[in-house]
Amino acid sequence: ICKKEGAMVSFFGTETQKAANERLLLESHLLDALRLNELEVYYQPLMSLRQGSKIIGAEALLRWHSPELGNVGPDRFIPLAESNGQIIEIGNFVLHQALEKASHWFKLTELPFKIAINISPLQFRERHFVEHIEDLLRLYQVPPQSLELEITEGILLQDEHHAKGSLAALRAIGVSISLDDFGTGYSSLSYLQKYSFDTLKIDRSFVSHLEFNEQNRELTRAIIAMAHKLKLAVIAEGVENAFQESFIRDEGCDYAQGFLYGKPVTAEVFHQLLRAQE
Ligand code: C2E
Ligand code: CA
Ligand code: CA
Ligand code: CA
Repeated sequence: ICKKEGAMVSFFGTETQKAANERLLLESHLLDALRLNELEVYYQPLMSLRQGSKIIGAEALLRWHSPELGNVGPDRFIPLAESNGQIIEIGNFVLHQALEKASHWFKLTELPFKIAINISPLQFRERHFVEHIEDLLRLYQVPPQSLELEITEGILLQDEHHAKGSLAALRAIGVSISLDDFGTGYSSLSYLQKYSFDTLKIDRSFVSHLEFNEQNRELTRAIIAMAHKLKLAVIAEGVENAFQESFIRDEGCDYAQGFLYGKPVTAEVFHQLLRAQE
């Protein structure tokens, strides 16, 4: 037994060490990634479920092509960038890139075009964040109505007063706000009551397995109905098949995003998709 316990301890010991080393390695490479041009913004189509199935926008999703580490997913490096503060610089890069592209794309479509950009809590809490967004909209000549900022509950956790003020200021200039990953946190319902949003994004975990899971269907149906009662638009994310699409469409969901319509692609490829549709 003693031997076994010893083995377990050293097993966990080495695993933790390994994880820490990996983290350090990622972090040291990430510090240079922007300067070395290794970061690229991809775009995933946002579809309207009302007007047939048309692309009405895109979500900007960051990609890191590292020569040393290969392609590293944002789920691995965004948390690191958040913990060392680099997310400010990286988030800024995404804002510039995506708004520059959007300045062409909103002219290409007849429908109002939306660029959706993920904002991390640290970024949102920066002083003058709202003014910064206004400056960028002016710089790239993108109408505020074409910008949607995706935020998560993390943003609302800390300084309630500041969050309320910034969200109201952004909405006052015409920028819309969507609450991302809805349903995965701890107190999403209380946030809906406290803050005002434009859009609610149903997390992928509800949408996947809709066809196999009665409970997921009931929850998804209830979320859509509740959002509409609160006058919020609803996006379902992670739509992968026709069953899921027809279910959410029948329930009155407004927008959809997922591999059924398209994976995140480069700006060039997304541009072609938009042009092919017009
Ligand atoms: P998210 O904001 O919830 O983004 C949606 C994620 O779901 C994306 O993963 C997207 O590729 C994936 N996805 C979309 N449709 C489907 C589908 O049908 N099936 C499946 N299996 N997956 C689908 P991705 O690109 O790996 O991003 C992961 C997370 O990293 C994002 O989750 C977001 O929290 C964060 N992230 C990505 N880019 C940025 C960024 O520029 N800034 C910040 N702050 N966070 C970012
Ligand atoms: Ca998002
Ligand atoms: Ca999400
Ligand atoms: Ca997510």
